[in-house]
Amino acid sequence: MAEKGVGMETKYVHLFSEGDGKNKKLLGGKGAGLCTMTQIGLPVPPGFVITTQACLEYFDNKEKFPPGLLDQVKQSMATVEKAMGRKFGNAENPLLVSVRSGAAVSMPGMMDTILNLGMNDEVVLGLAKKFGDERFAWDSYRRFISLFSTIALGIDGDHFHRSMETLKKDRKVKSDTDLTTADLKELVNQYKLIVNGNYGKPLPTEAFEQLALAIEAVFASWNGKRCQDYRREFKVSSEMASGTAANVQTMVFGNLGPKSATGVAFTRDPGTGENLFFGDYLMKAQGEDIVAGIRTPKPVADMRNELPEVYQQLLRVRENLEKHYKEVQDIEFTVEENKLYMLQTRNAKMNAAAAVRTSVELAKQGVLTKEEAILRLNPSQLAQLMYRQIDLKNRITPIAVGLGASPGAASGAVVFDADLAEKEGKAGKKVILLREQTKPEDIHGFFAAQGVLTAVGGKTSHAAVVARSIGKPCVSGCGDIKINDLERSAQIGEHTISEGTIVTLDGGTGQVWLGEIPTKEPEMSEDFNTILAWSDEFRRLGVYTNADTPADAAKAREFGAQGIGLCRTERMFNDAKRIPIFQEMVLSSTNEERLRNLSRLLPLQKEDFKGILKAMEGLPVTVRLLDPPLHEFLPSEAEVEKDIQTLQKFGAALDNIAQLPEIIKALDPQLGSVVVMDDVTVKNLAKLRAFGIDKKALEKKRETLRKIRSLHEVNPMLGHRGVRLGITYPDIYAMQAQAILEAAGELIKEKVDVHVEIMVPQVCTAQELKYVQNIIQDVEKKVEEKLGVKVPYKFGTMIEVVRACMRAGRLAEMAEFFSFGTNDLTQATFSFSREDAENKFLPLYNERRILQDNPFEILDVKGVGRLMMIAVDWGRRTRPDLKVGICGEHGGEPSAVEFCHSINLNYVSCSPYRVPIARLAAAQAAIKEKRGLLKPPK
Ligand code: PEP
Ligand code: MG
Repeated sequence: MAEKGVGMETKYVHLFSEGDGKNKKLLGGKGAGLCTMTQIGLPVPPGFVITTQACLEYFDNKEKFPPGLLDQVKQSMATVEKAMGRKFGNAENPLLVSVRSGAAVSMPGMMDTILNLGMNDEVVLGLAKKFGDERFAWDSYRRFISLFSTIALGIDGDHFHRSMETLKKDRKVKSDTDLTTADLKELVNQYKLIVNGNYGKPLPTEAFEQLALAIEAVFASWNGKRCQDYRREFKVSSEMASGTAANVQTMVFGNLGPKSATGVAFTRDPGTGENLFFGDYLMKAQGEDIVAGIRTPKPVADMRNELPEVYQQLLRVRENLEKHYKEVQDIEFTVEENKLYMLQTRNAKMNAAAAVRTSVELAKQGVLTKEEAILRLNPSQLAQLMYRQIDLKNRITPIAVGLGASPGAASGAVVFDADLAEKEGKAGKKVILLREQTKPEDIHGFFAAQGVLTAVGGKTSHAAVVARSIGKPCVSGCGDIKINDLERSAQIGEHTISEGTIVTLDGGTGQVWLGEIPTKEPEMSEDFNTILAWSDEFRRLGVYTNADTPADAAKAREFGAQGIGLCRTERMFNDAKRIPIFQEMVLSSTNEERLRNLSRLLPLQKEDFKGILKAMEGLPVTVRLLDPPLHEFLPSEAEVEKDIQTLQKFGAALDNIAQLPEIIKALDPQLGSVVVMDDVTVKNLAKLRAFGIDKKALEKKRETLRKIRSLHEVNPMLGHRGVRLGITYPDIYAMQAQAILEAAGELIKEKVDVHVEIMVPQVCTAQELKYVQNIIQDVEKKVEEKLGVKVPYKFGTMIEVVRACMRAGRLAEMAEFFSFGTNDLTQATFSFSREDAENKFLPLYNERRILQDNPFEILDVKGVGRLMMIAVDWGRRTRPDLKVGICGEHGGEPSAVEFCHSINLNYVSCSPYRVPIARLAAAQAAIKEKRGLLKPPK
């Protein structure tokens, strides 16, 4: 990316009029946007970009600027000075600049910006003269000192904040705009004293010295804690962004005179996607005032009356930008004396609903093709649309209403600072971060909280922007909240909210409730359905679901599932009424007893299968035979041992009570006549003893304990489970096959269109599969005889054992389909047990980059994927029309869906709520393939 010709020095600085707006990696997102806007003729204050490469070299060079950089900065500054007809650092005709950070990937609020550079005691006078506005000049000066000192000199910003607040109190004014020029002069003096006291020397006054310190501070913010936390959380790799650029730009003044303003806006509503110009502005203010939420801004539509020409110009800019970028834009602008200047444009971060709606509408407007409309969506983000929402039928009155700044519902215990939010969040508690307003250093609190609530700030305040970008519900600007920081409590009307009080918020409507409010299933919008229908036009991969109940099956079908790829039959036994029967079956001492118990389970399973087959009429239903080790269904050894002890104590108590009348008589014959145990009680006790109720129960428990101990395994997940159970207890598999085939047969007779597929888990040899096939074929004959109908079905195997991948060619002689069980296959490939890995060492592996991802969430294409490719290849050599799918958890993860497409699987199967995500991801894979953008599997 470096631009260096032979004998030429590296080019670290690009004027906005010359930089390549497509090269975000080198110029950062902000720099690239400024270059593009300049070059397409939008009004951008002149300036230049210092590249990310300069930033990286600064770090490589022990935090020293690369040679030549400052000279290039001076040269470019001279060009800007010429364009503006002003001079940087000159008192008579001063040019002030801002220095803004901007990496390749936008990280809202993560890095630093300094305004009004080039200011000192002489320049402030020149500025006042030049603009004929003394107050404005001193306001800019005090802003410069506080921002520059906080960011470039590392002085705690609270010093300046407190000094300002005290002055406002003294002068009995509410807002900073009410302070007079004299007040501001005094503030500047106080600020200088703060700098002297904390920095140990006076504020630097030389313009280029200020500029160099500011550039260093911007570079340094790239490696600051909050920026590193953000990159870790959002997995911003160095491939995506390394280093930040620094943008040096002529200052324009939103705080100059009555017709100046500053604003941030979105070309469409980022909360809903509606085609509405959306944003906030503040008259007589500079950029940081809006983001910090210091004054509550006005909606941008009010500009239509307040600054009508500028508003019309902004509407034209809005249209131009969307056409150019084919994306909704997030812009920053300043109006100086009724003249519009654009300071930033970038692709807007939107929530999922807005992303979907804008995709549909931009495609309908002809700005995007259907393919582009699909490709621009992030399938993982669509999971937001599957979030639960507040169930408003409860009609509980909210205690406050603020601005709905980031949609979604969240409940949790209130915490008043980000550190506590992080601590409680890590301890697994649900918390709501409640702040007056948030600041960039609160970011770790956002990650840990369920939602964020602020008392001040608009829909474009820091809290709102960050919450939207990470998909957390947020209510901002909730003016009814009065926070008492010292007491760590807040007052909302008559309600006192202490730390720990449970509240619920709805980031869509801005409502806040006391306590936890029930939520309801989300509804799929028409736009979402449109996108999914378009996706179906492009995708090749089928999308099935993992479902074990008719209700899940129906839900998945609503979401577009084209079949069931995995019905885990064992989950059907986990019902409170069924588990005792299943336990008796497991504990049966003889074959007859087992058969008797199995015949009690048969009708129950059959009914379940009928329900599922009906819900999926016309579509394939893949039923997996019993998989987990049997002891998973039994109580633990400790539980049974405790029962035995209780029964033993009961037996002893029975003996003792029976002797009670005699003991009493022996102690005191008179008492014997007072405390009489009536005859009935005595007789009942005697009966119980004679019957041996305690002894029988005890014997049964002991038998259970023996059985549990005999079933104990050292490594159950690698032990007696899956097909191994089917071979040792063939009656269990026979019962299941009978339930499946009878359910199907009876439905066929009712003219229901059923497509059954029977799948065997944990297979590693062809002989195992043959053995089970024989069992099923025997059952098939009996069922067909009994019902008098032919019951067609497919027979197949899961591929979740490494050996199965190696023997796929042989397995395909019997199996008509394969389904990759990538949960087990991942464990087997890594030789990691999932629970141990995730609890003990995987987080550290990820942190130290020994593994990039958690392979149980993101399919390990290089290892597990490689085995899958081998199995598909060998399987289809034996049986060219072999149907192959995936039913491990990876089946709904977008990158795995893309991989499954690229190795030509027939379908992916995932939980019902991930079906829409998989449909979209499958379409994206097909479109990328068509455009040559799909990486071929290696
Ligand atoms: C698998 O191993 O991927 C699978 C689907 O089976 P289970 O998770 O039930 O073991
Ligand atoms: Mg498995």
